[in-house]
Amino acid sequence: MDTIISFDKAAKRYGDSVAVHDVSFGVGYDEFVTLVGHSGSGKSTLFKLILGEEDPHTGSVCRAGIDIADMSERELLEHRRNTGVIFQDFRLLSKKTVFENIAFAMEALGYEEDKIESDVPYALELVDLQKKAWSFPQELSGGEQQRVAIARAIVSQPELLLADEPTGNLDPVNSHEVISILKQVNKIGTTVILTTHDKSVVNKVKGRVITLVNGEVAMDDLKGKYIL
Ligand code: ADP
Ligand code: MG
Repeated sequence: MDTIISFDKAAKRYGDSVAVHDVSFGVGYDEFVTLVGHSGSGKSTLFKLILGEEDPHTGSVCRAGIDIADMSERELLEHRRNTGVIFQDFRLLSKKTVFENIAFAMEALGYEEDKIESDVPYALELVDLQKKAWSFPQELSGGEQQRVAIARAIVSQPELLLADEPTGNLDPVNSHEVISILKQVNKIGTTVILTTHDKSVVNKVKGRVITLVNGEVAMDDLKGKYIL
């Protein structure tokens, strides 16, 4: 299997406490993988290792076969540009409209005005928020705000999307919708890695599930069910 991301016996400690221990797994291009585990089981730490925000103490984490900890600044920048990220708390800019939030992310990546004008509406269409382009985040529901965050994360068409407990602040209906959109994003060719501690989310995605317990992979199941 060609892997976009691979962990090889990766370990990360914070002081004396072990956040991630001896983790090994690969994620193939176009896969949809759910990482499930209780709070503190190491899910966000795995994302920090992928993004090169932290380096493993032992073992390695690779993007397309290249060790992320050994990347030059330029390679790391390219790797991050090609990785969308969404979080539980949306992280939208409150003084900017929906359109501007997404446009701003593209500007930061150095895209030209023409490209921004053409791509932002496309991203909004994908999350079905064309009608809210000129609203401000506080005028939207939580589910709508997370959809804006998804649009922002995918507008520059990254190969990889990391979704860290994206449904953590949402009710079941909005969670359902966010998962559907992530699956749609995956279908059109983006690798998605999702984290959650929510049983109903795991049972809804139905794909490959990697279960983390105390920073270790306890199970890696192609048709995973929630077993914690
Ligand atoms: P999860 O995302 O599954 O809730 P985390 O990856 O955030 O888990 O945390 C895993 C473990 O590492 C926890 O015990 C947490 O307290 C610890 N940890 C995470 N980040 C830090 C940090 N910056 N400093 C110290 N300990 C941390
Ligand atoms: Mg976390």
